[in-house]
Amino acid sequence: MATPEELRGWDNAHVWHPFAPMQEFRLEDTPVIRSAEGFELIDVEGRRYIDGHSSLWCNVHGHQVSEIDNAIRQQLDRVGHSTMLGLANEPAVELAKQLVDRTPDGLNHVFFSDSGATSVEVALKMAYQYHRQKPNPQQRDLFVTVSGAYHGDTIGSVSLGGMDLFHATYRDLLFQKVTVPSPVTYRVPDGHDAESWLKHCDGELEKTIRENANRIAAVVVEPLVQGAAGILVHPQGYLRRVRELTREHDVPLVADEVAVGFGRTGTMFACEQEDVRPDFLCLAKGLTGGYLPVAVTMTTDAISEAFLDLPWAGKTFFHGHTYTGNPLGCAAALASLDLFDRNDVVGKGRAIAARLSERLTEFGERCPCVGEIRQKGVMCGIELVPDRDSTDPFAAEKRVGHQVTLAARRKGAVIRPLGDVVVLMPAPAMPIDLVDRLCDIAFDSIEEVVARVS
Ligand code: PLP
Repeated sequence: MATPEELRGWDNAHVWHPFAPMQEFRLEDTPVIRSAEGFELIDVEGRRYIDGHSSLWCNVHGHQVSEIDNAIRQQLDRVGHSTMLGLANEPAVELAKQLVDRTPDGLNHVFFSDSGATSVEVALKMAYQYHRQKPNPQQRDLFVTVSGAYHGDTIGSVSLGGMDLFHATYRDLLFQKVTVPSPVTYRVPDGHDAESWLKHCDGELEKTIRENANRIAAVVVEPLVQGAAGILVHPQGYLRRVRELTREHDVPLVADEVAVGFGRTGTMFACEQEDVRPDFLCLAKGLTGGYLPVAVTMTTDAISEAFLDLPWAGKTFFHGHTYTGNPLGCAAALASLDLFDRNDVVGKGRAIAARLSERLTEFGERCPCVGEIRQKGVMCGIELVPDRDSTDPFAAEKRVGHQVTLAARRKGAVIRPLGDVVVLMPAPAMPIDLVDRLCDIAFDSIEEVVARVS
């Protein structure tokens, strides 16, 4: 077995990490994880870390959960992988049936892929093709997206993206979109108060959809919370309003619940809170309890029917990935759904949310470098600023959010920032005492770093 030093050296020499400025990253002694227990990760030197971002927003029930482990092992005794191209497999079919039963009524068709980005990519391609094949065919090539959106890193998903840091480089490669302003009132632009800003956002949304209805292939939203933009929580009613307008103008709605699905916002799916049935629902991350890469794009009878015809009519959806509907992943997902029912995980997530809210409010009052605290369910963003009475941010070179994560790691928790927004995202099933420990570590780390850089 390789020593910790060898592993660290090989990682630095050979592994190109996602979203990592590699020159700096190599100096940071990044933990190499060997195992996990419950809600803690353990590195090759035996150091333990609370999994404070749910392994990037996907872990639900913890790690080494016997029910999920056993489901995967049992599936492994049958078959590890078999393709969905030309064949079906038992756990994928069962999972599709369960998802249809659990999601808003009418999403009867399930297309499998393997990541959040691919689930969105599939929705975009399906929506585009749908308009060309529906009973009154149209050429629609425009997508509507919300400012600051993040939908993943494939080119279609990047086309929807509104985060310059991530997306500006690829601008020339992307397809057409119109961006409507995000209806968040944390920092309203000059000339507006919160109320007038929301009115402005609503007007822009309505105007964009009305004026472009014949060209819009789909409107794409992150329901209730824009995660990667910095945990931006939409006002109540926005999602429903988007649904009303898209329905009124006959424009399909894509709900990207990759981040918010599976109990993160207080309900199993965020759309439930506004009684919305989208035309496409994208699910990934928490679908397998955060174990394996399975994603789905769910859609309606009306959309799927536009793809039905004789094989030579050219209406087939020509899209598929090799590991689409992987049986091990689908078995994990079935076990995860069962745990949701048996352990009232959504209820547990709500209890965590209440505790986080208390802790965050108390910390925000105590710490003058906390600008805004944003929270929905177990999704929390703590924005750090030099002085909360000013809108000036910390200098980017200080990498304050990143420094906080390094400090937290030394104290025994892994978290990951979005710029200078420190994100806490405990798994919905994490015990409350561990959530408290996570808060203690995060808050201590923030105070330590701010004292150092101020
Ligand atoms: N959509 C949303 C809303 C996300 O937050 C993410 C990832 O954070 C994605 C899509 C992309 O998911 P994946 O990283 O699995 O491709």
